Amino acid sequence: MRYIEPHAHMVSRVTDDYVAMVTSGCAAVCEPAFWAGFDRSSVQGFHDYFCQLTEYEPKRAARFGLPHFCWLCLNPKESEDAAFAKDVLAIVPQFLDRPTVLGIGEIGLNKNSRNELKVLEWHVDFAARHDQLILVHTPHLEDKFKGTRLTLDVLRADSRIRPERVIIDHVEEHTVKMVLDAGFWAGMTLYPETKCTPARAVDILDGYGQERLWLNSACDWGVSIPLNVPRTALEMRRRGWSAEAVDRVIYQNPVRFLSQSPRFRVE
Ligand SMILES: [Zn+2]
Repeated sequence: MRYIEPHAHMVSRVTDDYVAMVTSGCAAVCEPAFWAGFDRSSVQGFHDYFCQLTEYEPKRAARFGLPHFCWLCLNPKESEDAAFAKDVLAIVPQFLDRPTVLGIGEIGLNKNSRNELKVLEWHVDFAARHDQLILVHTPHLEDKFKGTRLTLDVLRADSRIRPERVIIDHVEEHTVKMVLDAGFWAGMTLYPETKCTPARAVDILDGYGQERLWLNSACDWGVSIPLNVPRTALEMRRRGWSAEAVDRVIYQNPVRFLSQSPRFRVE
C-alpha cells in the first residue's frame, strides 16, 4: 500500500509516528500551518513557526525518508485580532519561495465571527495575488454547516479563485455535497470520535463518488491517530473495494491536487 498524508501537524508528533507512517506506506506528508496548542503572543512567534515548518520539520522527516511539505497562513483560531493578523500576513511573503511551500492554509473559520471572516477574505485575496493553492479548515460540529456556507460564499465572490485549486477540509455528511457541487475539492478528516471516523468516511465515498476527495488524519496534539488513512484503506478493502480503487483515493487523488503546485513531487 502507498498513500499520501495530506494534512498532518507533525510538529506535535514524535519520531515513532514518522516510523509508523513510513512503514505503512506513506510517500509524502503535508503540514498546514495551525494553532500551536496556545495563542502565539507576537509576530516573531509566527516567524519562528514558519521557520520550523519550512526548515526544521522537513529535515526531521527526511531522516525517515519522508518528503515533508507545508502550507502557510495565520490559522482561524488566532484570527480574532485583525490588526495582529495583518502583521502576520505581512511576513508570509518572505517564506513563499521556500522549496517545500505548497500554498496558503489552513485558513477558514472557527467560530464564524465577523473578524474571522474578514481575515479569511484577506487570506483569499493574498492567495489570489500570489497565485497560491488554498487549503481551508471548516469549523467543528454545530458551526460547520454555516461556516462552510460562509466560506464558499467568500471564495465564490472572488473571480480570481479557481475552485479546482482549493480544497475544503473536514467535510462531513452534511457539507460534502455543497463543496463538491461548487467545483471545489473536499477533504475528510479521520478522527477517532469527532469529524469522520474511517467507517463514516467510506460511507461518504460510497455515496458521493471518489473524484475530488482526499483523506487525512490531521494528527495533532489532541486525541488523533496518525495512521488513520491506511486504517481507512483497510476498511475499504474489508468492504470489497479493489486495491486500484483504494490507491486512487489515498494516493492518486492527493497527488493530482497537490501537483498543481510545481513544488510537490513524489518519487
Ligand atoms: Zn489541521
